[in-house]
Amino acid sequence: MSTITSSQEQKVIDQVPKQLFIAGEWRDAAEGTLSVEDPATGEALCDVADASVDDARGALDAAVEAGPEWAKHPPRERAEILRRAFDAIIARTDELALVMTLEMGKPIAESKAEITYGAEFLRWFSEQAVRIDGRYAVAPNGQGRLLTMKQPVGPCLLITPWNFPLAMGTRKVGPAIAAGCTMVVKPAQQTPLSMLMLAKILEEAGLPGGVLNLVTASSSSRTMAPLIEDPRLRKLSFTGSTEVGRRLMGQASQNLLRLSMELGGNAPFIVFEDADIDAAVEGALIAKMRNVGEACTAANRFHVAEGAAEQFASRMAEKLGSLRVGRGTEDGVQVGPLIDQAQREKVSELVEDAVDRGAHALVGGHSRDGAGYFYDPTVLSDVPDDARLLREEIFGPVAPVKGFASEEEAVAAANDTEYGLVAYVYTRDLKRALRVVEGLETGMVGLNQGMVSNAAAPFGGIKQSGFGREGGPEGIEEYLETKYVAVNV
Ligand code: NAP
Repeated sequence: MSTITSSQEQKVIDQVPKQLFIAGEWRDAAEGTLSVEDPATGEALCDVADASVDDARGALDAAVEAGPEWAKHPPRERAEILRRAFDAIIARTDELALVMTLEMGKPIAESKAEITYGAEFLRWFSEQAVRIDGRYAVAPNGQGRLLTMKQPVGPCLLITPWNFPLAMGTRKVGPAIAAGCTMVVKPAQQTPLSMLMLAKILEEAGLPGGVLNLVTASSSSRTMAPLIEDPRLRKLSFTGSTEVGRRLMGQASQNLLRLSMELGGNAPFIVFEDADIDAAVEGALIAKMRNVGEACTAANRFHVAEGAAEQFASRMAEKLGSLRVGRGTEDGVQVGPLIDQAQREKVSELVEDAVDRGAHALVGGHSRDGAGYFYDPTVLSDVPDDARLLREEIFGPVAPVKGFASEEEAVAAANDTEYGLVAYVYTRDLKRALRVVEGLETGMVGLNQGMVSNAAAPFGGIKQSGFGREGGPEGIEEYLETKYVAVNV
C-alpha cells in the first residue's frame, strides 16, 4: 500500500451523500449542517445535514408509512436486497475504508477489516431472512392446536456509536431489514459518513423508500426524545455508553419499547501459568490494540499468573513500543489517533491516576505533541487495586498488567466490575478453561483468542453492559414478535 494523496481523500469525501435520507429521498435539514472532523489532523472534512426535531419526526413518519407494505414484502426479495448491498460494499471496500479512516482515524487495514466484518452482517441476515418460521403443536390435552408465527416488531430506532462506524450499523440494519421492520437510523455525529454511504448502497440495492431513514444530528437528545416517546415507535436498539443507555431506557419505559442495549465494557484478559505465552501476547495485542483500544471488547486489564506476569508485561511493552503511530492513511501506520481531545484527556487522566498510585509505565504514558489526538501505546505494571483504570472503561491504547496468585483470585478479580461484556482466557488446561469460562460473569468469552466478533455469533453483554444479542440466529429475534394462535379443532 502506498500513502494516499489528498486529492484521493477529497474525491471519496465528495462522493459521500451529505443530506438526510427520508422516505427514499435525500433532503437538506431544516437546521443547517454539522461539521465532521478528521481526528488525525483536527481539521474539518466536510459538513453533513443537521436534523431538526421536525426532520426526525418526518423520518419516523416515513418509517411508519412504509411499515405495512415492507412487512408483507417477500422474504426472498428482502434477502436479495441485503445480498446485493453486501456485494456492493465488498466491491467498494477501498473507497469505504478510506472514508472510515478519515472520519474515525483507524489505519486503512483496520478499516478494511471493519468493512468485511460489517458487510458480513448483511450477508448473514440475508440468509436468515428466508428462515423465519413458527411452530405447530398439539395441545397437551389433545383438544386444540397451538400455532405460533413470527412478525416484525414494527418501526425501530437504531442509534449507533462512533467507534465502528459501519459495523455497529449493519449489525442492526441487517436483521431489521431481514425481519421486515422499517427504521430510523441515527449514527454518531463524529462519524456519520460510513452510514450515509451504507444508506446510498442500500438505496441502489433496491431497498424501497421509507424502509430505512437516516438522520444525522448535532443534538441527539433533543431530536431523538420525541421519537422515543412516540407511541408509533416499537423498538429502540442502542449501542453506546452505559450512561446514555440508562437514560434512554428511562425514556423508553414510558412507551414500553422493545429494547436492545449494547453498552460499555471492562474486559479482563486472564493468562494462566500453563498458557502458551507467545499466543497470549499475540492475542493480547489484538484484544488491546484493535481500534486503538476504542472498542467495547477491548481488553481493559490484564490479569497474569504471578510467575508469568513480568515476562508478559515486558513482552507487551516491547510489542506496543514498536508499533508505528500516525495518520491512518499513511503507509505502514498501525495505530491511529483517538477520536477527540476529550477522549485523549480521559486516557491521560486514567494513566496519571494509576502512576500517582504506584503503577510503572514500561512504555508510553504520554500524549503526542502536534496535530491530531494521538496517545502513545502504553503498558503499566504494578498497578494497584485502587487505580481507576481497573474499574473504568479506558477506551485507549493502555494495558495495565496485574499479577494473581490463584485461579480463584483471577476469576474474582475478573468479575469485580459492574460490566459484563466479554472476557479473554488463556490456558492449555481444558478442565480449568471450562471451570473459568463457567465462572465468568460476561456475555462472551474469548478462549485462547483475542477477538470474539463474528456475524454468525450472538454478541452482547450482561450486568451493566446491557442486554440483547446482535448477530447469529439470535440477532433476528430482536426484531420479531411471536404471535400465538389458539386453534379450536
Ligand atoms: P455515546 O456517547 O453513548 O453515544 C452513542 C450514540 O448515542 C451516539 O449516536 C450519540 O449521538 C447518541 N446519543 C448520545 N446521547 C443521546 C441521547 N440523550 N439521546 C439519544 N441519543 C444519544 O457512546 P459513544 O461515545 O459514541 O461510544 C462509545 C461507547 O459505546 C463505549 O462505552 C463503548 O463501550 C460502547 N460500545 C458498546 C458496544 C457493544 O456492542 N456493547 C459496541 C461499541 C461501542 P452523538 O454522537 O450526537 O453524541
